This record gives sequence, C-alpha cells and structure tokens, in this order.
Amino acid sequence: MFETLSETKFSTMQFGIHLPKELVQEEDRVRSKYGSQGSYPLKGALVEAIHHRISKINKEVEFVKERPDVMVLVDGLTLRVDVDVRPIFLYGRYRKLSREIPQTRWPCRACRGRAGGCESCKGTGLQYPDSVQDLIGEPIRKELGAEDTSFHGMGREDIDVRCLGSGRPFVLEVKRPLVREYQLDHLVRLVNENGSGKVELDDLIWTSKKKVNEVKQSRSEKTYTIRFSVDDLGDEEEAKQAILSLSGKVISQETPKRVSHRRAAKTRKRRVSSVNKVSVEGNEIEMTLRCEAGTYIKELVHSDEGRTSPSVKSVMGSECHVIWLDVEEIHTD
Ligand SMILES: [Zn+2]
Repeated sequence: MFETLSETKFSTMQFGIHLPKELVQEEDRVRSKYGSQGSYPLKGALVEAIHHRISKINKEVEFVKERPDVMVLVDGLTLRVDVDVRPIFLYGRYRKLSREIPQTRWPCRACRGRAGGCESCKGTGLQYPDSVQDLIGEPIRKELGAEDTSFHGMGREDIDVRCLGSGRPFVLEVKRPLVREYQLDHLVRLVNENGSGKVELDDLIWTSKKKVNEVKQSRSEKTYTIRFSVDDLGDEEEAKQAILSLSGKVISQETPKRVSHRRAAKTRKRRVSSVNKVSVEGNEIEMTLRCEAGTYIKELVHSDEGRTSPSVKSVMGSECHVIWLDVEEIHTD
C-alpha cells in the first residue's frame, strides 16, 4: 500500500473493509449465542488493528470517517487491497476570449478519439486542439502530478461564442493528484500563461464534490450582446423601437433545429428580462439584452424558421443573420 503511495502526498486516510456475508452471519450467531452483544464488532476491530499497524510505519497519517485523501478498500476474504487517491476540486470562473474553442474536450469525429488518433486529427484524437477544459486543466494537472481532469461548467456557450464579464463558474476535478496542497495564485498564473488570448481566470478556490452539483444545477439570468445583419432594415428608428418592444416579453421556443439531434423536442417559455441597448450601423444591428436561463439567443434573433416566437425577425418583418454573440455576464447571486 505504501509502495503504491510512495510519490503521493496525503494526510488523511479512510479504510473500508468488505467481509463475506457468512462471516458476518457467523459473528451474529456467536454473539447472540454467548450473549456478547456489547463486544467489539469484527469490522471495527479489524480497522482498528490496521490503523494501529499503520501508525507504527507512518505517524503522520490521520484516519478519518469521511472525505479522506486516500480511500483504502480491503477485501476480508481475498485480502486484496485497493488504494484510491481521491480527486481534489477547484472552483473558479473562466472567460473565453476565442470563438474557436469548445468548453470540454471534443473527440475527433473520424476516429472517435481513439488512443493515438488518426490522420484527420493529426494523432491527437481531438476534433479541436484546444478546449477550455484542457487550457485550464492541463497546466494544473501537470503541476499537481495528476492523472486526468473532469470539467463541470455552469452550462456552456457554443464554440463560436465568447464568455466575458466575470466569467462562467466551473469546478475542475483533478484526478489522482500526487500533490493536494498548493499555492492557488500560482496555478492561476500558470493557467493564464497557458491560455493567453483564449481563456483566463481571476482566481481559484478549493472546494468539494458537493459544489459540482451546485454548479451544474444553478440557473442564472445572463446578459448577452449579439450582432446581426438585416435584409431589409426599413426606418432605423422604427426598427429600434420594434426590437425594444421585446423587452419584458415571454417568448416561446421550440427545441432549435441545430440541437434537435441531441435534445428532446419541446416548447419552452422564456422571459426576455430586458433589452438594454440597440445600435444600428448600416444594415447591421448590435443589441444587448438580459434573458432568463436557457433562452436560445441566436434563435431569438433569426427565429429558427418560426420555431421561436416572437423574435427579432418577427417584430422587424425582415430576415436576420447572426454575425456573432457574446455572453456579457452570468448573473449568479
Ligand atoms: Zn482522429
């Protein structure tokens, strides 16, 4: 066990012992037969004995009953020992400054990301060489000597959408790290150097697995800026007023065509909390708006062939073509 952990730094350990059913039944039988209900149970006694032996080898280890650094499972029958170095969790908010990177690792479509990759992905196994997950996770993984990372974001933006403002909350799960304590501002610096011009962080804090669900289930209003072109602008002032009339409206959105292969078909009601700014430049319009969580913004503009209603297209009476979209702010409380 200590051989396996020779390079791993840890301070707490938990033992789990699996005993065969017959042995536990036999213990109960003996216990009731001799009226020794109060005596020390087999499992507890075994764990205690192991603790005692380990303390002789390593005085620093603290034995805990929950959230250990290292979980050890002992099979009472085969005496097989499994050592599991528990993951560590970091919370932060990222800004994505590029319109060319997905949030999480995206396996190559041609080879489905098999080890060694293929010709079309140049051996990387990835469809996109960069992802927010790896731009943030890889420098941290290397620095902490970990095996891999999982990335848990509070929702995600499309590949071609930037995420600005104070950034999108996420939890990075770092698997089997050799090091569990580290200067976090140094990790932030490493990430910002590695992600330069693509991804950046302000800070990182230690968190626990509980935060993963919290981040994943949280639903926040967001402010967006979207730029689009219009086939027939008409009168500029009327166009502006038409768009501003969407402020406060509840819109109805069917599952967009572009995601219908992976999302169930249903109609959602979403509220456009406010339309804050509309500016016109030639036949292009830029608008800033705040919407309820889960609103499809590109569809709100071009209407997705009428699947979103009302839409910018419907109130203007002209085809609209999205040029770009930015998440300006995610309003967590
Ligand atoms: Zn490939």
